[in-house]
Amino acid sequence: PLHPIAAFDRIGEENAFAVLARAAALAAQGRDIINLGIGQPDFPTPPHIVEAAIKALRDGHHGYTPSVGIEPLRTAVAADVHRRFGTEIDPGKVVIVPGGKVTMFSAILMLGEPGAEILYPDPGFPIYRSMIEFTGATPVPVPIREENGFGFSAQEALALITPKTRLVILNSPANPTGGVTPKAEIDAFVAGLEKHPHVAILSDEIYDQFLFDGEAHTTLLSYPEIRDRLILLNGWSKTYAMTGWRLGWALWPEGLFEAARKLAVNAWSCVNAPAQYGALAALTGPQDCVAQMVAEFDRRRHLVVEGLNALPGISCAVPKGAFYAFPNISGTGWSSAKKLAAALLDEAGVATIGGPDFGIFGEGYIRLSYANSAENIARALERMGAFLGEAR
Ligand code: PLP
Repeated sequence: PLHPIAAFDRIGEENAFAVLARAAALAAQGRDIINLGIGQPDFPTPPHIVEAAIKALRDGHHGYTPSVGIEPLRTAVAADVHRRFGTEIDPGKVVIVPGGKVTMFSAILMLGEPGAEILYPDPGFPIYRSMIEFTGATPVPVPIREENGFGFSAQEALALITPKTRLVILNSPANPTGGVTPKAEIDAFVAGLEKHPHVAILSDEIYDQFLFDGEAHTTLLSYPEIRDRLILLNGWSKTYAMTGWRLGWALWPEGLFEAARKLAVNAWSCVNAPAQYGALAALTGPQDCVAQMVAEFDRRRHLVVEGLNALPGISCAVPKGAFYAFPNISGTGWSSAKKLAAALLDEAGVATIGGPDFGIFGEGYIRLSYANSAENIARALERMGAFLGEAR
């Protein structure tokens, strides 16, 4: 039989998709499953964006576009960054990609190889570690701790840097914890990087508009001193409820841009043309759709956190960003968070994801996405309460 090269034995996956499949299989057997496992907004894409993509098709945008994306979209990305953060970026270094994940993949592929070390947040998005392992580089987890509000610790990260470190990955607001790294911590990290000029930074800011309690986003773009080694990951998937469109954007530093462009030419030619016109409408059109979605997430956030804290053995810190809650389950008597998540799905009909699916420091936690209706969230919490009460 055929075998892929050994690197494919090391590549992982996102267990969220396996949970989704298991939940769908149970639902197909007639079970009523409430899905708090999936990390995508439950809203449809705003209609003006959908219409712009349909119009692009009608107007004949059926061919290849430049590999790095259509000019007006790259310019609109730079204008949006300027509008939101007051920071200038060169649209000539923006690459439109088929999903934020592609930027992650590209950056780790460009900098990872045997002998290299890459720092990544743990618990964190599972694909970081998977891709690092794929390249043969050594994955070095930076612990993301509840006592730090699930923010990134500059001190801990800087202490893990060695002469072999090639890349440090940051993600704020964060999946799976909802943690937001305070500006002072990012200031300290950037200041500390001065001593380590060989280290590049990948800042995954895909949840940058999902912030609550008046928090403002600190983008790594606002530090000119690291611009020549910063890869910025962002996109439309979460902000405009466009996960299935497969769209993202990256800003590449001078030294890596050509590699990013060539990767696009070799692997996907360009992002599908009508989707790019939809993305353009998203950035240049009204933004109240984003504010409305965030307000609805905020309302649900309170429901989830209050509901979780009322459950036996569970304590949940208030997440400041993204749309996830990451409750501590150590008081429930369940020593394996994955087993608890599996039992909640099979016995209570509530899909969640065990913290260890996001890294070794995820044990003792489960992730709930509140991208579901307030009514379903309330039903899920009721079921979880009954399940945990009985299991005691
Ligand atoms: N980065 C983080 C932290 C995510 O949670 C996700 C999606 O779940 C992505 C990147 C990927 O986004 P996209 O769907 O645009 O590839």
